[in-house]
Amino acid sequence: MAKRTSSLYTQPFHRRETLRFECTGCGACCTGTEESHVFLEPGEAEAIRHHLGLSTAWFRRRYLARTGEEETVLAWGAEPGRCVFLGADGRCRIYPVRPLQCRTYPFWPEVVATRKAWEQEARRCEGIGRGAPVPLARIEAELERQR
Ligand code: SF4
Ligand code: SF4
Repeated sequence: MAKRTSSLYTQPFHRRETLRFECTGCGACCTGTEESHVFLEPGEAEAIRHHLGLSTAWFRRRYLARTGEEETVLAWGAEPGRCVFLGADGRCRIYPVRPLQCRTYPFWPEVVATRKAWEQEARRCEGIGRGAPVPLARIEAELERQR
């Protein structure tokens, strides 16, 4: 017989709790470690290239990289984990066409799944826990965009 579980218990964390988030623009989420990458959805590299007005060859050489699993990602900038598009002023240089991964942060499935994950991410992102409660509909919409 299957073990019974409470429906409350099985609800994802973001549905059980009110989450607050307000971006301060600190830029910390655009830096990381050697395991940090900005992955690209189909068409995103081309949108960024077009936005910058660069040739395909130059754009690929300067701004794209491959992971060990041969996935296309944005290159690092001055140091490992730092996105090549993070300016010295802490601003994103391709903000209007930034990848989905950036647009949906911090509402990633693995981040909003549990309180522990949300609080752990708050150590990196000072916007977590700030500001007004984020409407559940917005969080659900961000999650849906990543499916
Ligand atoms: S593309 Fe922009 S928002 Fe995304 S990690 Fe790079 S600098 Fe940050
Ligand atoms: S780390 Fe959080 S507060 Fe800082 S720029 Fe990124 S999303 Fe905004």
